[in-house]
Amino acid sequence: MHLKTTAFFIFFLLSSSFLACEQSEIVFVTNTGRAYHKESCPSLTSSKIAVSLPDAARTHNACLTCNPPVIDIRKFPQNNMELYKVNTAGLKNSNAANHDLMLKADVVGHVDGDTVRVRINNPPKSLSVVETIRLLGVDTPETVHPNLSVQEFGMEASDFTKDNLLGKTIFLAFDWDLRDKYGRLLAYIYTAPGVCFNAALISEGYGFAYLDYPFQFMEEFKSLEQKAKKNKRGLWAR
Ligand SMILES: [Zn+2]
Repeated sequence: MHLKTTAFFIFFLLSSSFLACEQSEIVFVTNTGRAYHKESCPSLTSSKIAVSLPDAARTHNACLTCNPPVIDIRKFPQNNMELYKVNTAGLKNSNAANHDLMLKADVVGHVDGDTVRVRINNPPKSLSVVETIRLLGVDTPETVHPNLSVQEFGMEASDFTKDNLLGKTIFLAFDWDLRDKYGRLLAYIYTAPGVCFNAALISEGYGFAYLDYPFQFMEEFKSLEQKAKKNKRGLWAR
């Protein structure tokens, strides 16, 4: 009798704390930081924004100082999320895109300088768990085209992308068209808030601004290419 009551009580405690943890846990983020925190954390100085744990875990990492609760975000689907598109009036530069609205993904494969494969946990309806991404607005020299020899600098560009993205958690933003004619996802890859990898490829001289199709950051990418040329970055040094 006593044993049964105790067992029930323990079960009750476990299940209620489990529910509390999964449904109503609130943690805190700042305007600029990449971590989420307990309310008491000393890192929360300038701003303190309360968010639900699942939302925080989707876009931020757990703070290493205050050890806030962690969850398995696969249980909290992204699939009710709308894809974040940057083609809105007034957004001119890639670094001003809203990082909080981007889709989180892991880079699991590398094809060449401007193409990678990602895994998206519980993806929105229009996407698959594994997608091939063609980076928007940038073209790197060819390395794997079956009918072309390796273009000059193609390998360097390919290695730059591999070194910077493979195995990393990244964030995705989209533009006018979701896919190209090969079914690849057209996206901007962000490695941190305000840090667009597509733009970095151009400014470091690993790729060209790809102007055949219009995209939101066309003017910016054009001028990044001109700057890279002027400063003899990467392929422009040859
Ligand atoms: Zn903290």
